[in-house]
Amino acid sequence: MNERRIRSIVIVGGGTAGWMAAAALSRSLTGMAVDLRLIESPRVDPVGVGEATIPPIMDFIRQLGIDEGHLVREIKATYKLGIGFRGWTRDGHFYFHPFGPAGPGMGNIPFQAYWLKMLLEGKAEPLEEYSIQAMAALRGRFARPVHAPNTPLNKLTYALHFDAGRFARYLRGYAESRGVVRTEGHVRHVSVRGPDGFVDSLTLETGERVTADLFIDCSGFQGLLIEGALRTGYEDWSGWLPCDRAMLVHSGRSAPPNPYTLVTGRDAGWQWQIPLQHRDGNGYIYSGGFSTDDAARALLLRNLPGRPLSEPVALRFRPGRRKAAWNRNVVALGLAAGFLEPLEATSIHLIQRGIAMLLKFFPDRDFAAADIDRYNRTLESDFSAARDFLLMHYSQTQRVGPFWQHCREIPLTETLREKIELFRSHGRILREEAELFPVLSWLSVMVGQNIIPRRYDPLVDGLDTRRIQSRLEELRCAVKECVEAMPPHWDFLSSTPRAGPSHPPAAPG
Ligand SMILES: Cc1cc2nc3c(=O)[nH]c(=O)nc-3n(C[C@H](O)[C@H](O)[C@H](O)COP(=O)(O)OP(=O)(O)OC[C@H]3O[C@@H](n4cnc5c(N)ncnc54)[C@H](O)[C@@H]3O)c2cc1C
Repeated sequence: MNERRIRSIVIVGGGTAGWMAAAALSRSLTGMAVDLRLIESPRVDPVGVGEATIPPIMDFIRQLGIDEGHLVREIKATYKLGIGFRGWTRDGHFYFHPFGPAGPGMGNIPFQAYWLKMLLEGKAEPLEEYSIQAMAALRGRFARPVHAPNTPLNKLTYALHFDAGRFARYLRGYAESRGVVRTEGHVRHVSVRGPDGFVDSLTLETGERVTADLFIDCSGFQGLLIEGALRTGYEDWSGWLPCDRAMLVHSGRSAPPNPYTLVTGRDAGWQWQIPLQHRDGNGYIYSGGFSTDDAARALLLRNLPGRPLSEPVALRFRPGRRKAAWNRNVVALGLAAGFLEPLEATSIHLIQRGIAMLLKFFPDRDFAAADIDRYNRTLESDFSAARDFLLMHYSQTQRVGPFWQHCREIPLTETLREKIELFRSHGRILREEAELFPVLSWLSVMVGQNIIPRRYDPLVDGLDTRRIQSRLEELRCAVKECVEAMPPHWDFLSSTPRAGPSHPPAAPG
């Protein structure tokens, strides 16, 4: 064995980030004789509001070897096929951002190129009609993909909505059964070594001193180690992302849950409705510059889909990211690494990416600068790509009112400006390597928000128009037929087979 290998890891924080890290590391470091310990404070509650996810979460679950049906039941999850945007582009308007790949290409001409030609000529149906995720979502249907050729069902792509507290407890059960030692304790002091500025130890309120080779900071917004001890610095992105407050409340269910998140544009921000099996999660994300907390609370309560189950809770946040998510022997994950508001549900995914990249560049006790630099550059690029996608939503709307006017005046980043210009000129969608959101995401949001290309891609003129029309029609009919054969989402959830747990039950609540 490498004598400089990591022998001990301490994770500070037992929210979604902490337990995701504990679960993944306990699985991936099996056989490496690394002591894994997680410390969570009995005094500081996790934020507990990350309830919507995006499709890569399903890979995380599979890689842990977790039985999906069992997990879905235990964490009261529902399936998510995308996001419905109501009144976002303008009042009374609706568009859908579906998950999944765009339709098939024709030769080397991608789907969006030939669909956009037909759209500009007034001969295409709305984008939703060519997406199995969108059509299934809007009809309230769900099924898992089937592995058969020539059916849109084999591309069906989905994520989950879940109860964040239950998800963390489930992962805790998983991680503890694989040897992670949990300590309930409040970290009072973080000490830093003189010579190299590495974190040396933590002192708990009980007086216990805890040492480790590698520390993972999952302590939430404050970033107890990455910021409190190492003073890494934070890039404030509020110049691009206008919202900085949230008002949250759960409500009772009165109808079967839809397999999508519903987002509604409001005066000073937007409201979400996340349907779970037993309740809805609701929140209003808004700008403190354009609404008071009292007005936000009243607006949220006025617009709930069901009876509130508690008093609304207010939260404040600063959009942005830690200047380096990995500094010396501390890796920050979750809110400690940064926060982008939840419009496109990217935060849990960024935790997952942080864990995956940590495993890719897993250090030894020499902590090679090249590994750390590459990790930080990758995470920076992931955060920036997500920020640009969010900024596009805000900057390209026709909603009226001072908040939305302000959003339209936000200067675009260079990268986003280029993306929008390329799309406006010939409908081209530029994606950097490993960029999170696929072509269909950009296409549906740009078209949904009325960014329409001036011209279509000249290469489409090599295709016969009648062939394009019949290809689109075939696709539309195939999607329709498949959706009609899918069961209602709620029936699917209720009939999910009760497979036995693939690991010991979740930790007690
Ligand atoms: C309004 C809002 C809505 C969101 N919606 C979504 C969404 O839909 N989808 C999505 O992907 N993400 C969403 N997020 C983000 C998501 O909630 C977080 O990314 C996720 O919960 C991870 O949080 P965390 O574990 O980093 O921090 P936290 O949940 O804050 O956990 C911090 C942990 O650190 C511990 N701790 C703190 N101080 C100490 C100390 N001194 N000693 C010991 N332990 C300590 C606490 O006890 C706690 O266990 C949302 C966030 C907000 C604010």
